[in-house]
Amino acid sequence: MKDKSFEVTLKCLFCDSPLQGDTDQELNSGDMIECLECHELNDYDSVKDVAIDEGEEQVKQYAEDEISKMLKKTFK
Ligand SMILES: [Zn+2]
Repeated sequence: MKDKSFEVTLKCLFCDSPLQGDTDQELNSGDMIECLECHELNDYDSVKDVAIDEGEEQVKQYAEDEISKMLKKTFK
């Protein structure tokens, strides 16, 4: 199996821009992240939930592709 990286970015819930966090600062549950584009405050927990959903979707899609490729090889 080849390497595949999954890209999940935290996105602003208001304008969909990628959120740029301070990398030195660890984000904790309940933190608010200010969007640099629209300056709305995003609730870290909500943003994280969206990112997790997106990540799961990518992994699922990737797994489906790999399994169908495997099946094609097996039943050639
Ligand atoms: Zn925004």
